[in-house]
This record gives sequence, structure tokens and C-alpha cells, in this order.
Amino acid sequence: MLLRKEYAKDDAGELELDDDGNPTVTHLTILEAPDVGGAHHFSPRLVERGIADGWLGVGGGEFTVKTAKGKADLVFKIVEPPGTFCAHCGERMSSSPDALAHIAAEHDGEDSPDAQNPSGYRVDNYYRTERAS
Ligand SMILES: [Zn+2]
Repeated sequence: MLLRKEYAKDDAGELELDDDGNPTVTHLTILEAPDVGGAHHFSPRLVERGIADGWLGVGGGEFTVKTAKGKADLVFKIVEPPGTFCAHCGERMSSSPDALAHIAAEHDGEDSPDAQNPSGYRVDNYYRTERAS
């Protein structure tokens, strides 16, 4: 996904600054986005920044990316928040040690089905989402 922040400007075309001297984001222009049904990963840092800037809304298990007035917002259903997951069965784990204990108990002797994670579990540091509209 490719986004461009649009900033508030006064009548002379100068950036309007907030009390801290930062330009004010009014909305985003979406330059490139996955199709409806397509997958997208949101990093926690992007989510925090989007909420702080006001162009990202969170609620009902969805992220809403606010676009220009008159244009439809982009809505992404949160499929899975960041976390640790068993590569064999997909189950969410509370920690890496828990994942290793789970694999020893449930998948003993099986090769990891995920070649990139030969230990048998993966740590996702992003929100796995799917574009809903
Ligand atoms: Zn498992």
C-alpha cells in the first residue's frame, strides 16, 4: 500500500502548523492499495502514527484509512493481531517458550511446514489484515 499524507494549508498555500509546530494531516491520498479481499500487513508503528495523525480509525475489529472528502475510506478487517503462532496448526502462542513446549507436545518429530521458520513457530510483528471495502 502506498499512501501520501495531505496537509492543511492556509489561503496562501502555506502549511498550517499545530501548537507543537507540526503540519496538520487532513487526509491521505491512496496511491496504491490491495484490491478488496487482498491481504495487507500494518506495522504497529504505522497504526500508532495513523491514530496520532487522525487518518486511521480502529474499531469493530477493523482499521479505517481515511481518504479525501467525497472518496470512500478503505476498510481493513483485522485477521490476526501481532503475536507468536504455531507453524504446524496456526494456534496463537503466548510466547516463544510456550510455542516450543506446544510443538514438543503436539508436533513432536515433525519438520516445520514453514521453511522460513524451521523452529516450527513464527513471530508476526504486524497486524495481518484483509481489505473489506
Ligand atoms: Zn501447533
